[in-house]
Amino acid sequence: MLSLLRNIQKAGTNRLYSINRKKFVSYIHSGAVKMDKDFKVDKEELRKRLTPLQYHVTQEKGTERPYSGCYNKTYNEGVYVCVVCEQHLFSSDTKYDSQCGWPAFNDVLDEGKVKLRPDTSGVGSNLLLLISQPGRIRTEVVCSKCGAHLGHVFGDGPPPTRKRFCINSASLNFLPKEAKAEDR
Ligand SMILES: [Zn+2]
Repeated sequence: MLSLLRNIQKAGTNRLYSINRKKFVSYIHSGAVKMDKDFKVDKEELRKRLTPLQYHVTQEKGTERPYSGCYNKTYNEGVYVCVVCEQHLFSSDTKYDSQCGWPAFNDVLDEGKVKLRPDTSGVGSNLLLLISQPGRIRTEVVCSKCGAHLGHVFGDGPPPTRKRFCINSASLNFLPKEAKAEDR
């Protein structure tokens, strides 16, 4: 038990231990998520370009208030892109009304568009809480190109994936599907 606690104390650096059913399962995560080497995040430029909320959410892992985001209830056809680097992330085809207060998607446009990593911020340094309530460890979703915080993914979504990507509107921009020539 002591060695387990010692190991858990490393959580947040490069190791995280969680409880899976009855047994402890460990998994290594690489610490800082490796992003596109060619993409440099210029924090000063971002402060000027983004709203304070967009900056807080994407760069400081903030969360917009539920039901407050501009894309919470939008279902127009198009693509949702990262507000920082414009990487295409989610299609309107997978957006659904989860009634959780944030835009929810059943899947990512492409697996490589996001990186997932364990988020222990709901537990803090409370190791007993970490052991007794492993469900408090959430899975953070970040943009694979620039590392912007997007939101979290949960396993309570609808089929076929059963996933619920719960994403802040403040992390996204929306590109409407271009009207076909005959529609213009
Ligand atoms: Zn990005």
